Amino acid sequence: MLRRYKEKRDFTRTYEPLPRRKKGQGALTFVVHKHAASRLHYDFRLELDGVLKSWAVPAGPSLSPEIKRLAVMVEDHPVDYGTFEGVIPPGAYGAGEVIVWDRGEYSPEKDGKLFFDDRSRAEKTMRAGLSEGKVSVFLRGQKLKGSWALVKMKRGDNNWLLIKHQDQYAQPGRDILAEEASVLSGLTINDLKSGRQS
Ligand code: MN
Repeated sequence: MLRRYKEKRDFTRTYEPLPRRKKGQGALTFVVHKHAASRLHYDFRLELDGVLKSWAVPAGPSLSPEIKRLAVMVEDHPVDYGTFEGVIPPGAYGAGEVIVWDRGEYSPEKDGKLFFDDRSRAEKTMRAGLSEGKVSVFLRGQKLKGSWALVKMKRGDNNWLLIKHQDQYAQPGRDILAEEASVLSGLTINDLKSGRQS
């Protein structure tokens, strides 16, 4: 559903993608935006049923299984948002710089199985996990890899936790957020702030 995405935005003011659903092919995709809105945050987005299910993660993802990061579910975004970066103009909803901090393919995990090659099983598994409030996803990004949990909290309708599962990609000592550049353009938020575009 992109109704809320559409309602929040004035497309004469913003360059963000129009609210169109788009069915993809092959493996499902994920994207993590770094977004310097009034408060800097990361947006974790998982493709499902022609949209990107989206969570705002104020502190960003952590590679430590000991650290649980609050992830607030926000409105679905268009699949085309997966390659959006740039500056949302002052006065527009979410004004500020946005980069594609990470991007890649993902699959839900169920009973030790992955569904990178079976989009319909993957989507079915995701729908069930999201409605149960607990989903395990395996990420094949450039920065984020391996198994992660998204778990809905009991309090607050939209509050989830994003947690790295213990696996070979867990790295408790490493600050992955120190890798600041966009995986699409190589630009950082500060580059955009200073007017650099390439
Ligand atoms: Mn955001």
